[in-house]
Amino acid sequence: MELKLTPGEEDDKVQPMQCPGCGAKIEVRHTHYPHFSCPNCRETICVAPEYLLKIRILSAIVSFGITYFLGMRGLLFVVVAIFGFLATASIATVIGLVVTPPMIEKCTQGPYISLKL
Ligand SMILES: [Zn+2]
Repeated sequence: MELKLTPGEEDDKVQPMQCPGCGAKIEVRHTHYPHFSCPNCRETICVAPEYLLKIRILSAIVSFGITYFLGMRGLLFVVVAIFGFLATASIATVIGLVVTPPMIEKCTQGPYISLKL
């Protein structure tokens, strides 16, 4: 009996940090907010919005928590927490891309998201 290895088995599942269009590996340096082009096929793609939302919620909790425990209250608390959140969210997004690679999605909203004002 012969053991049949099938390394070329069909696997259409898109992996994290992979272009949904052509399957090319997306490097962290290729990613931009809110969207960017695949370095291989030029498809307009973006990091999954759920991922960015999770990062922001976590950053907000961490930032507001630290500001509170530092003993800041009132207007100072709000100002420091917001600046802390912006800094934490930026750092967490970059670190998050490396530590927990997000799914990459086709950007369906076009080049610019209209605010519909
Ligand atoms: Zn691609």
